[in-house]
Amino acid sequence: MLGNKAVWKRQIRSDTLAAANNCCSVCRSNQGRMTCHEKWGYDDERCVATLMGFEIHCSNCDLVAHAGRAFKLGYGEVVISHLCALNHWDIERAVDVLKHAMDVWMKRSEEDWRIKVASSLVERYPELAELPRFIPSPIAY
Ligand SMILES: [Zn+2]
Repeated sequence: MLGNKAVWKRQIRSDTLAAANNCCSVCRSNQGRMTCHEKWGYDDERCVATLMGFEIHCSNCDLVAHAGRAFKLGYGEVVISHLCALNHWDIERAVDVLKHAMDVWMKRSEEDWRIKVASSLVERYPELAELPRFIPSPIAY
């Protein structure tokens, strides 16, 4: 992707981990491998996806964030149980929320999206200004 991708990605991950105090930004767990997750905002009317920032995910929260992929890989039960535990939901509620999220994702996938990076991120990480040239469309699962 970008020539110095490794440098800026390591810096972003390190900065995001420090800001999150080495805990998951969602459930506050500090167990296991932590992932630096991209936070995107979607303007569905203009079909613009904006990279808004980053947050730290534990492995279970990252599976929830990428539930479609997680189900394909056989982690559906983990997704459901983590959603239920975090939100005090029953299984039916978790399934409804996931179905809605998949409907939104499928609808968004029918469109051609432009990519933007939030100006605050570009100020902090100038290399991100080049990101829209390298990513043709947002990747979501
Ligand atoms: Zn978590």
